[in-house]
Amino acid sequence: MNPPKIYGLIGYPVKHSLSPLMHNAAFAALGIDAKYELFEVSPGELGDFFKSIPQRNILGFNVTIPHKEKVIALLDQASEEARLIGAVNTVKVEGAKTGGFNTDGAGFLKYLKEELRFDPKGKRIALIGAGGAAKAIAVYLCKAAVKSVSIHDIDNNKLLNLGDQLKKHFAGIEFLSASSVEQLNIASSDLLVNATPIGMKETDPCLVDGKFIKKDLLVYDCIYNPEETKLLRIARGKGAKVANGLGMLLYQAADSFKIWTGKEAPVNVMKQALKERTKHDW
Ligand code: NAP
Repeated sequence: MNPPKIYGLIGYPVKHSLSPLMHNAAFAALGIDAKYELFEVSPGELGDFFKSIPQRNILGFNVTIPHKEKVIALLDQASEEARLIGAVNTVKVEGAKTGGFNTDGAGFLKYLKEELRFDPKGKRIALIGAGGAAKAIAVYLCKAAVKSVSIHDIDNNKLLNLGDQLKKHFAGIEFLSASSVEQLNIASSDLLVNATPIGMKETDPCLVDGKFIKKDLLVYDCIYNPEETKLLRIARGKGAKVANGLGMLLYQAADSFKIWTGKEAPVNVMKQALKERTKHDW
């Protein structure tokens, strides 16, 4: 009997990840003899992890903080999107070769269009953050022909680099690198995205003054733990439509599953697994 195929997640830390739930439910539903495991890999152990891939029968893995950017240098190939975003969240292992992909942006967009019924074409976007998640989201929103993207990040270098990169690749879209959240023009935006970790801790402030949030704004927070951040609570109180990061998590996982197995992911099975654990009302 062949040993099961191994898939998983590398990151530091990874123990609270919901990815094993989704992927193991999907493997079981499709009768695939595979297991999704968590690999806690510190920054200093990344090279050794890559060397250990063949012995462990690892055929693919997701990548999370702090390895999404650094992993690119260790791969044999990276997709055009992953190179444009500058971050990889999915690695496929084929024989001795590793290929990198980024499914965060596509997952975000799929959830936005299919479940939130938001068509980004011609829309004005305010984005907080210029890190891994923000870059993936910005690239996919630009691919979907938004009208404008205003971005703010406390790290000015990351902010300016992302702005330059987007301007180079997406002519015709207006870009603003905002030096503060106030400069994002949230009051005249259609979609506000928080792609920073601010909101994960109970003591975190809300980055946005509620006075900028109107009823017709969609507020998306990439955070899913806690289920409702202060930003989402305030926005909901203002009558805005709100959604947390679980939808993006689900659809990025579904795309990773397809990259590894070549099969359409059973999204409803994966969603049910998330529902049971988080009690999230979709
Ligand atoms: P990241 O690469 O560290 O990027 C976060 C960015 O936010 C950094 O540039 C950071 O600057 C900036 N930032 C921190 N505090 C800020 C503030 N007060 N104002 C403006 N910018 C600020 O992290 P990431 O991987 O993009 O993840 C961001 C969040 O998205 C995390 O909560 C993560 O869990 C979540 N996420 C969710 C999904 C999903 O599927 N739902 C997928 C990916 C990520 P510094 O580096 O200077 O702190």
